[in-house]
Amino acid sequence: MEQNLQGKVALVTGAGRGIGKAIALELAAHGAMVIVNYNGSKEAAEKVAEEIRSMGGQAVCCSCNVADAEACEQMVKDLLSQFGKVDILVNNAGITKDNLILRMTEEEFDRVLDVNLKGTYHTIRQLAKNFLKNKGGKIINISSVSGVLGNAGQANYAASKAGIIGLTKSIARELGSRNVCVNAIAPGFIETDMTAALSESSRAALEERIPMKRLGQAREVAALAAFLASDKADYITGQVICVDGGMAM
Ligand code: NAP
Repeated sequence: MEQNLQGKVALVTGAGRGIGKAIALELAAHGAMVIVNYNGSKEAAEKVAEEIRSMGGQAVCCSCNVADAEACEQMVKDLLSQFGKVDILVNNAGITKDNLILRMTEEEFDRVLDVNLKGTYHTIRQLAKNFLKNKGGKIINISSVSGVLGNAGQANYAASKAGIIGLTKSIARELGSRNVCVNAIAPGFIETDMTAALSESSRAALEERIPMKRLGQAREVAALAAFLASDKADYITGQVICVDGGMAM
């Protein structure tokens, strides 16, 4: 595989499993040194780092709840003192707490916004100076087709993912002149723990709505992340790119 991320340091949030794990492995396969962030999945994150090292790559794990502003500040301080810089930031950490609006509690709304949207804000806020100092970098935020199209039962989640799109475009405008590219990936339905709970019938109904008639794979999202992280994407910023089998076209 082309080692076009050699010498780059990448922080991937929520990289112990699912899409984050696939992104961590893909960036490492292209030569990046990967920081595998986790919140609850310590063992899984350590396995990802081990897998990267066993392929001849470089990886370390770091624990941080991205919804916690102080914890993010500390994580970034530690990483910068250890590695000196971060070139690629992938804001992947995310949760769902689905409910119809009549039943959705304020706690369910806030929790999803705190992790998905504020978590993304916290890491970007803490790393902004680093990107300005380095005169470049790549920020990749994981949104969702739910943020583009809306989704019944996911008002909190869709609001957080639409918020990520506004955040992405605003920061792309702020940091563009400093050579920092900020883009969002909007996956459709991807096979991970997040979608594993779907019943047979809702899965079949879902597949019917997808022009390509199948759920996506985490590696299909990771391939785009690796491209956006590379210098091949140096003139792409402020974009929302769907990896969704055609759902949101
Ligand atoms: P997943 O399998 O449920 O994994 C979620 C990841 O987020 C885990 O690694 C988890 O880490 C991490 N995370 C959750 N809360 C965190 C926190 N407070 N601080 C740090 N990390 C935290 O989900 P996934 O399907 O891979 O989704 C990854 C991203 O893609 C999410 O942003 C999700 O919204 C988005 N997405 C997924 C789909 C899909 O169909 N799967 C579609 C569109 C968008 P721990 O286990 O360590 O807590």
